[in-house]
Amino acid sequence: MGHTHNNFDVIIAGAGPAGSSAAIHLARKDFRVLLVEQKKFPRPKLCGEFISPECRRHFEALGVADAMTDSDPASITETVFYSPRGHHVTIPSSWFGGPAALGLSRAVMDNVLLRRAQECGVTVIEGATITEPLIDKNTVRGVKLKLNNDEQQHRAPLTIDATGRARILTRKLNAHAPVKKAKLIAFKVHLRNTRVAPNACEIYFYSDAELDNIYNIIAGA
Ligand SMILES: Cc1cc2nc3c(=O)[nH]c(=O)nc-3n(C[C@H](O)[C@H](O)[C@H](O)COP(=O)(O)OP(=O)(O)OC[C@H]3O[C@@H](n4cnc5c(N)ncnc54)[C@H](O)[C@@H]3O)c2cc1C
Repeated sequence: MGHTHNNFDVIIAGAGPAGSSAAIHLARKDFRVLLVEQKKFPRPKLCGEFISPECRRHFEALGVADAMTDSDPASITETVFYSPRGHHVTIPSSWFGGPAALGLSRAVMDNVLLRRAQECGVTVIEGATITEPLIDKNTVRGVKLKLNNDEQQHRAPLTIDATGRARILTRKLNAHAPVKKAKLIAFKVHLRNTRVAPNACEIYFYSDAELDNIYNIIAGA
């Protein structure tokens, strides 16, 4: 058994956009925050990496708007939806609260947010897996985590589960809740030297027959 630490007002599990943003806001209100992330950043993450124009005001409030702009994002002024038969409709980004959406990898965006959290005084532990909540008298009092081969316990009056789809703490608390298996799978690749419409996000819909073909290709690969 490792050490127990009691130095924090809030513990946040997971340093995705939700966890890091909450950490920044709380630290700027002078709360002592511990943010625990199982990966070491920057790290890739499955995502379309489309950042809607309305995110700009959140980035400004978090103090990361310039850092995001300096990270050389793609500027996306429209989204084009293609039907299986090739018909298309174009939606300007300006309909969603700003001139352009951003295309920025999650490796970059999440890292900018995490480093900003550190800058604001948040204590960050990377490469540590939260294993379960610490429970005392029916109340969550913190977390247990594994860091290398060491097990640590951290206590705080408030714990936030920001582990995304993993919902690690929430699932431990609802051990009998049915686990919903995802019906779909997703892949992501970054391609170089492709030809797409400039400044556009393109979204393609496929017929069931085309999707079957794609699944067969993947299954046979
Ligand atoms: C295929 C796909 C495409 C998408 N495309 C877009 C898009 O284009 N634009 C958009 O805005 N949204 C998109 N989304 C949605 C977006 O990815 C999520 O809304 C977003 O990631 C949620 O952020 P989060 O901080 O809640 O969780 P996450 O980003 O999932 O972050 C959770 C963090 O918790 C960490 N963690 C998990 N378990 C533990 C543990 N036990 N201990 C410690 N840390 C842990 C993880 O490593 C992770 O860093 C897409 C989602 C998918 C699946």
